[in-house]
Amino acid sequence: MFEKVLIANRGEIALRIQRACRELGIKTVAVHSEADREAKYVRLADESVCIGPASSALSYLNVPSIISAAEVTGAEAIHPGYGFLAENADFAERVEKSGFVFIGPRAETIRLMGSKISAKDAMEAAGVPVVPGSGGALSDDPEALLSIAEKIGFPVIIKASAGGGGRGMRIVQTADELVAAVAMTRGEAGAAFGDDTVYMEKFLTLPRHIEIQVMADEHGNAIFLGERDCSMQRRHQKVIEEAPAPGISVALRNKIGERCAAACRQIGYRGAGTFEFLYENGEFFFIEMNTRIQVEHPVTEAITGVDLVQEQLRVAAGEKLSVSQKDIVIRGHAIECRINAEDPFTFVPSPGRVTQFHTPGGPGIRVDSHMYQNCTVPPYYDSLIAKIIAHGDTRAQALSRMRIALSEMVVEGIKTNIPLHQELLNDPGFIEGGTSIHYLEEKLARERGKGH
Ligand code: ADP
Repeated sequence: MFEKVLIANRGEIALRIQRACRELGIKTVAVHSEADREAKYVRLADESVCIGPASSALSYLNVPSIISAAEVTGAEAIHPGYGFLAENADFAERVEKSGFVFIGPRAETIRLMGSKISAKDAMEAAGVPVVPGSGGALSDDPEALLSIAEKIGFPVIIKASAGGGGRGMRIVQTADELVAAVAMTRGEAGAAFGDDTVYMEKFLTLPRHIEIQVMADEHGNAIFLGERDCSMQRRHQKVIEEAPAPGISVALRNKIGERCAAACRQIGYRGAGTFEFLYENGEFFFIEMNTRIQVEHPVTEAITGVDLVQEQLRVAAGEKLSVSQKDIVIRGHAIECRINAEDPFTFVPSPGRVTQFHTPGGPGIRVDSHMYQNCTVPPYYDSLIAKIIAHGDTRAQALSRMRIALSEMVVEGIKTNIPLHQELLNDPGFIEGGTSIHYLEEKLARERGKGH
C-alpha cells in the first residue's frame, strides 16, 4: 500500500478521500488554492501545499503546480476526486510519466470514454445495450442526415461527442429543423469543447437515469455493485440519488450489471467506474461512462458495505479487490440529498460565511461535509456544501430518516436548498418512486411558474 497520497481536489470529496487514506494508514497531502487556506481538510491533512490563487484554472487545474507539490512532499500517488482533472487523460498521463500513480483508469481508457462516440462503440462491441443512433460522427450532408434520422425515428437528439456537464445537446422534433440543429450544435461544441464532432441518438421521451457502479482491478477481476437511480435532476444536474432503483428486479439488475462487469474485463478497465443508462419501458440504454468516483457513491456504500474509495486505493496500489461478486449483497435502501449553497427558489449560488452549522445524526445517517461554524463558502467553485445519506431497511424507512435529518440540519448565514429537499421528500410522486428525469423541472414549472 502507498505511504503517502496527494489529493488533487477540494471540498467534501477531499475530506472523504482523506478519511479513506487514514483508515488504510496512508499519509495525506492536501493541495489547495488561496481561497481554501482555512478549509477543514487542509487543516486535517498531514501536509498541505498552496498551489495557486482562487481561480481553479490557476490552482485545481494547474497541472505543473500539482505535480511539483507531489514531488516536494514525496507523495507516491495522486487521487483526482471528481470534477477538475478527474477525467482528463492528459493529466493522468502526465502524473504517470512524472513517476506517480494516478488513482483511476489508464489514460487510454479515460480517452476512450471521453469521446462519447468511441465510448458507445466500445460498449456496443462489448455487448452493452446503447441508445439507437448514428453509430458515429455526423456529416453536414442534408440527405445523409435525414436518412439517419428517419431510420432512428423522430424525435432525435444531436449530441457533442466531447460534451459534458449537460451541455452540447439539442433535441430535434421534425425533419425541417434537422440541418440547422446539427449546424448549431456543431458550432457550440467547437466553441465549448474544442471538438465539433457531433452524433445523433433517439431522444427518449420519459426515461429514468439509472447507473451501474463497477470496480475492477489489474488481476482480471471486475464486479458491479448494484445500481443508483439519479432521475431527480435540474438542468441535467443530479439533486437526489438513491439505491437500489425503485422497481428494478434482481434479475434485471444482475443482467445489466453482469454486462457492465464483462465490458470492464473486455476493455481492461481499472478502478471505480459508472455506466450511465437511460431506462425506459423496462430497457436500459447506455449513454456514457464516468471513469472516476461519483458524488453519489455513498448510497452504494450504504447498501453494499463496501468502501469504494478504499477499493480505489487498493486497486491503484496493484492489490486485488477486497471483495468478489458473491460478497456483494444489497441491504436495505439509501438516499442522498445534495445540499447546495444556493437559493432554494431561484437557484442562484449563495456563497459567504456560515454562521451556524449543525449536522443531523442517529441511526442510518451519514453526513459528508467539509463545513464548520464560521467557515466561508467561496464563490469560485461548485456550490455543494454537504451530502446527507439516509440508510434504512426499506425505502420508506430511508425516506423517514431523511426527513428527520433534514429537519435537524441547521445552516445559517448562507442560503441552502434544504427547503427544496424537504418539499421533495413529501412529494407524492417521489414517495411513490420511479419518476422520470423530467419530473423535477416539470414540478418546478407547474408550482413556481416559468423561469423557476
Ligand atoms: P453529459 O456528459 O453532458 O452529462 P449525457 O450524455 O450523460 O451528457 O446526458 C446528460 C443528460 O441528458 C441525461 O441524463 C438525460 O437527461 C439527457 N439525455 C442525453 N441523451 C438523451 C437521449 N438520447 N434521450 C433523452 N435524454 C437524453
